[in-house]
Amino acid sequence: VAKQTSSGYAAFTQKMVRTTEHGLSLLSDLRRAVDENQFYLQYQPKISLADRSCLSAEVLIRWRHPTRGFVPPDQFIPFAEQTGCIKSITRWVLARGLAQLAAWRAAGLEMSLNINVSTRDLVQQDLPALVRAQLLAEGVAARHLCLEVTESAIMEDPAHALASLNALHEMGVQLSIDDFGTGYSSLAYLKKLPVQELKIDRSFVMNLDLDDNDLNIVRSTIGMAHHMGLKVVAEGVETESVAAQLKTLGCDGAQGYLFSRPLGADDFHAWAVAARAA
Ligand code: C2E
Ligand code: CA
Ligand code: CA
Ligand code: CA
Repeated sequence: VAKQTSSGYAAFTQKMVRTTEHGLSLLSDLRRAVDENQFYLQYQPKISLADRSCLSAEVLIRWRHPTRGFVPPDQFIPFAEQTGCIKSITRWVLARGLAQLAAWRAAGLEMSLNINVSTRDLVQQDLPALVRAQLLAEGVAARHLCLEVTESAIMEDPAHALASLNALHEMGVQLSIDDFGTGYSSLAYLKKLPVQELKIDRSFVMNLDLDDNDLNIVRSTIGMAHHMGLKVVAEGVETESVAAQLKTLGCDGAQGYLFSRPLGADDFHAWAVAARAA
């Protein structure tokens, strides 16, 4: 499936963002977006490859811009990171996501949440304090929250990032390395991180069954991760063929259109209830 980039989507190219005029208007648009309720969340199931039960929901932000229409996160998250806007976005995602998780759990749905955080969140705001306060506010146990962090976010300021990750870990929050394989991949460094999960980027997963290089990368990543006591989740699983290969390789979890696209909260709830009954 090709990435949706053309029709129907606003065309914020990187170049546009860089030019001051557009950059400024995007920045003020982003600032307004939180206050004016233009963001909403979708949830994508993370399933166990052993029995296809749903382990968790990854929270994915969506922006409905009043005039430009739907703007995909790949086009505004990097800009939000550059400008510092990401901090208020992350606060909003945590608050809204955890409130939804609390509602699901109160309704009897046993679920956990995976939430993406960025470099700036790790080094420029007191993420452990923020997470602690929001877990308390929603009455959610720390073990039901997993934060996804990229390698590059950690490598930008390793000392600071490690301090935040350690504090979150001590609180009982789960931690996951996101987009694994796309960054610097310092394996020596990974050993020092208090993470429980490693997510293999979909660029290595999507054609796993057709490309021997991808297959070898994924196989060795799973071996290494298991050796270090980490669970492995594969992103971007679109076919039964890839899912079967991953299961053979011993991969623990998977996400992708094969199982479900990201869904609105009510659709996710219905999906999870149906999956449980199946
Ligand atoms: P990611 O963390 O790697 O998230 C996985 C992306 O893959 C999502 O794109 C998801 O919709 C997409 N995806 C899931 N299954 C499949 C599949 O089978 N095939 C294909 N082709 N794609 C699949 P999305 O939602 O557009 O998000 C893009 C990126 O934006 C995310 O990549 C993440 O880095 C960032 N992002 C999204 N929401 C948030 C957020 O709340 N906070 C932060 N900091 N970043 C976010
Ligand atoms: Ca992610
Ligand atoms: Ca990815
Ligand atoms: Ca990511």
